[in-house]
Amino acid sequence: MEELKRRIQQEANIVSQQVLNLDKILNHQVDPPFIMEMGKQFAKRYREDSITKVLTIESSGITVGFATALELGVPLVFARRKKTLTTETEVYAERVPSFTKGIVTDILVSKSVLGPEDRVLLIDDIIANGDAARGLIRVIERSGATLVGLGIVIEKSFQAGARTIRESGIRLESLVQIQSLEQGEVRFL
Ligand code: 5GP
Repeated sequence: MEELKRRIQQEANIVSQQVLNLDKILNHQVDPPFIMEMGKQFAKRYREDSITKVLTIESSGITVGFATALELGVPLVFARRKKTLTTETEVYAERVPSFTKGIVTDILVSKSVLGPEDRVLLIDDIIANGDAARGLIRVIERSGATLVGLGIVIEKSFQAGARTIRESGIRLESLVQIQSLEQGEVRFL
């Protein structure tokens, strides 16, 4: 997606060789028509796959997840990141390390919104080590739903997440792939 590459070059900040600040594109501010375009891209790739639900994780996956779900005409489910007042028996809960916050959080999905009848498209903003995605994949497995594939806006290909998920036989589509953040420069694959 050329427009996304252009915006990353202009509006993202390199925090370190591992981390890109995307506050102006995905994590703090979003341009609605541009997010809708991302949703169209994912919907186009998964249109023929009889998706019944889009699943994402709060908070930064919600905008793109919403755009994708709208395009596909299905509900969006967003996993919550911490304990709620719901009792444990009513939710699928998985513990995942948070890449950016350096802490472990619980991700929760209510059993009332995901079940064996669902065919799920998993959407997220960025993939690094793949912990968030794997946590969501475990939630889908435990619910008995079918994981159809993943749609990731920005894949950092120099980290292991996307590769290991593909190697396990799961379809993963990303809109851009970043090869490196070295020498103060964003390099795309
Ligand atoms: P993972 O679980 O794949 O290691 O990390 C994925 C999550 O961490 C994403 O949902 C994303 O919010 C956050 N993340 C990982 N790498 C980056 C990064 O370079 N920049 C930003 N802004 N978020 C990141």
